[in-house]
Amino acid sequence: MKALWLRNKTRAFKTQPDDDYNRLERFDTTAGKDQGQRADLCEVLGVVEHEKSDELFFRQFRFDMGEQRSQIANRIRRKAGPEIFDCTKQDLLSRSSQSRKPMRERVCDFEMILSSHERLETHDEWNLGPPSNPSQQVTPQASAHPFPSSTPVLSRSVPLPPRDPSRLFVPCPGIPIEWDAHTFYTTYPFQLHSPNAKNCAPYDLMIVSGIPRARSPQCLGGIVTIEGIQPCAKCSRLTLDVNIIRGRAARSFEHIRDHNDLSSDQLRAKVTVVKDKVNTLRLKKLDLEVSLQRAQARLSEWIELFHFIGQNSGSIPPLHRLLGNAEKEGWSATKILEYCRLAHAGQYTARNYTQAEIDLAMLIYELGGAGAIYALNHSIFALPSRNTIQPYRRQLNLLPSVSGLRFTDIFRNITTLFGPRTRHEGEAELLPPVKCGHTVSVDEVAADRNIDLMHETDEMGGFCLEHVSKLETVKIGKDLRSVEAAVAAVKEGTVHVAQEICVAAISHLYGTDYGAKPVYMGPTCKKYDLIYR
Ligand SMILES: [Zn+2]
Ligand SMILES: [Zn+2]
Repeated sequence: MKALWLRNKTRAFKTQPDDDYNRLERFDTTAGKDQGQRADLCEVLGVVEHEKSDELFFRQFRFDMGEQRSQIANRIRRKAGPEIFDCTKQDLLSRSSQSRKPMRERVCDFEMILSSHERLETHDEWNLGPPSNPSQQVTPQASAHPFPSSTPVLSRSVPLPPRDPSRLFVPCPGIPIEWDAHTFYTTYPFQLHSPNAKNCAPYDLMIVSGIPRARSPQCLGGIVTIEGIQPCAKCSRLTLDVNIIRGRAARSFEHIRDHNDLSSDQLRAKVTVVKDKVNTLRLKKLDLEVSLQRAQARLSEWIELFHFIGQNSGSIPPLHRLLGNAEKEGWSATKILEYCRLAHAGQYTARNYTQAEIDLAMLIYELGGAGAIYALNHSIFALPSRNTIQPYRRQLNLLPSVSGLRFTDIFRNITTLFGPRTRHEGEAELLPPVKCGHTVSVDEVAADRNIDLMHETDEMGGFCLEHVSKLETVKIGKDLRSVEAAVAAVKEGTVHVAQEICVAAISHLYGTDYGAKPVYMGPTCKKYDLIYR
């Protein structure tokens, strides 16, 4: 194949032959192109070797070629032109656009016919699939844009660009879309080219030789240059739009606001994440259902407990201490109900007494005696029994003087009543808590004429201290000799059974617990004369 026209003819014929010219490197440089053009001319014209450097030969050739070109142009313009375009010679030669209009229209129609044929021939090259029904192709009478602007070029037809009547139509190649070929079909948001897409891409997509390209719906046709066919201005401005879509496709779906812009890969990732969330929510729902069932079961247990307590509130001793134990040990409703039933049946008694209950029981014991404390111990209040309060009743440990006036007995009683003591909760307490004044009161109180057995000291108590020294001993021991001796002494009148008790009591001058506490109790017969006799 030889060149059809000469490039820079003056320079071509002035080019000197280059012995190092390599035809394989012809199009690498301008000098190579000139050498190749000259070699073609020599081959076509049959120039022999010695004429290749003959300047006169080429000068004559240029002259002859100029003459021939002038004659051909004259014939076409002045004689063949009016026949071809059906116009007068004046119209063909006129520079007025109005007079050349009929001819231009014919030329344009001729261009369009050529373009349509060219497109049909190159359809497979510019589109993905085989040609569609030819009836869908654009006819010269149809609009330049038979499809809406959002029509994806992946469909069969390429919309015809608006025709510029001033030049020949060349299909515009559009601009290449730089995309990873391995992931293009999974990462490109093809739905943007759907006719029903919410966010339509501002360009049409073409796949040419496996390379995606973008072409504007308002494409003006390709621009023919020396380097080849270049995209039109409309298509060239699509770079920014393509970059926006490419940048959006590279981001994670979480950073894309509208799901209509997501690609296949992004949608798949979103589905995976959403599926995980759904599974998590499903598990959470199952957990909540199980928790609800447990809560409903517990609620029924609490309701049963509430009904039982409400119906037997007067016969569950002592309910308040039982509930205190339940709270302290973390009992379930079922266990509380079980212990309530045991308490109701008299088989369980909570013994976690409070200090107030112990104090109340001691007071009742002092006021009402053993019978009162027994009755209250078996009542709904279940106060502590006498044995329970005994360690707290210090006056039970008071030591009466039965064999004489001894300081050790009085000091022991003072320590018992006024020394440090431990409360129910285990805290040490001083009575009174600060130093203060004290009052000692001494008086006699009437007593039954009885002789009592003092278990702690194994002694007989009740003899008058004035004359008890007449007895050898008041200890009982293992036989009855001391008892018999005491009986004989009482009968003789040397020793008396006391009718009164001489009591010395101490009270401290403080705001609380200021009652008189007995520290000395001595039986007396008030027959002092016998002492001095
Ligand atoms: Zn274009
Ligand atoms: Zn006496």
